[in-house]
Amino acid sequence: MRIPVWLPIPAPAPSSPGMYALVTGASRGIGAAIAQRLARDGFDVAINFRASTEAAEAVATAVRAAGRQAALVPFDVTDRVAAKAAIERLLDERGTPDAVIVNAGIARDGLLAWMADEEWDSVIHTSLGGFYNIVRPLVGPMLKARKGRIVTIASVSGQMGNPGQVNYSAAKGGLIAATKALAREIAKRGVTANVVAPGLIDTDMTKGLPLEQMLQAVPLGRLGTVAEVAAAVSYLCSPDAGYVTGHVLAINGGLYT
Ligand code: NDP
Repeated sequence: MRIPVWLPIPAPAPSSPGMYALVTGASRGIGAAIAQRLARDGFDVAINFRASTEAAEAVATAVRAAGRQAALVPFDVTDRVAAKAAIERLLDERGTPDAVIVNAGIARDGLLAWMADEEWDSVIHTSLGGFYNIVRPLVGPMLKARKGRIVTIASVSGQMGNPGQVNYSAAKGGLIAATKALAREIAKRGVTANVVAPGLIDTDMTKGLPLEQMLQAVPLGRLGTVAEVAAAVSYLCSPDAGYVTGHVLAINGGLYT
């Protein structure tokens, strides 16, 4: 009988000292989980948010409890001037980030026939405008540094097109296309750009939805957790994902493949 030979598993690569990540929309939900997961992975974290200062402070406390540094960076990602100023301060104080997670997003659901202009504009400006406002001032320094990871948080809605979410599907579909195009622009300098596309995840955003009915379409039959989405981001920011770029990683319980 042949005895199976178990090959030793290589030890995980140690995190470089001083690595830091900027996470937008990190005061609550998926962004808060990403901030805490990246801290566990060895990143210091710049925590962006718009209004929830107390919640953001709690995330900073959790990051520090993981032994990493945390900074609060409050600004509205739709405000190009404020975003540019905050990012320039960050670049001055801390240098070029090793990972940028474009997570801030909102939903304003309703049929297009009744959609208010504000519902269209705010959703597009947050997800898609936010991408431009964050990545535009950072991509030059990242290219110069010849390293770094950009991860955008899109949605299954941007992949399949969801009725009642024409604005959100447009914003997230645009975000997927923008990330894929960017990945091709920056690959030669060793900077990667990938998308995580969650399905139905248990956060404030999905509270109040008719979940029982919606979950019938999810093969795994449950909501995803913020930790499951954060684990995908963690992978894309890890040394293991060095050869992955322009990819859309679906975390959706099989809802759309
Ligand atoms: P939440 O509503 O729980 O949290 C949203 C976060 O984004 C908060 O930290 C909020 O800050 C921040 N934010 C919102 N608008 C802005 C802005 N203009 N500027 C800066 N920060 C802002 O959302 P989720 O955690 O559920 O969603 C996170 C991302 O994941 C979004 O892009 C969403 O579209 C996407 N997603 C979520 C899914 C889900 O099922 N939950 C499914 C698919 C994708 P503050 O607390 O200060 O308001």
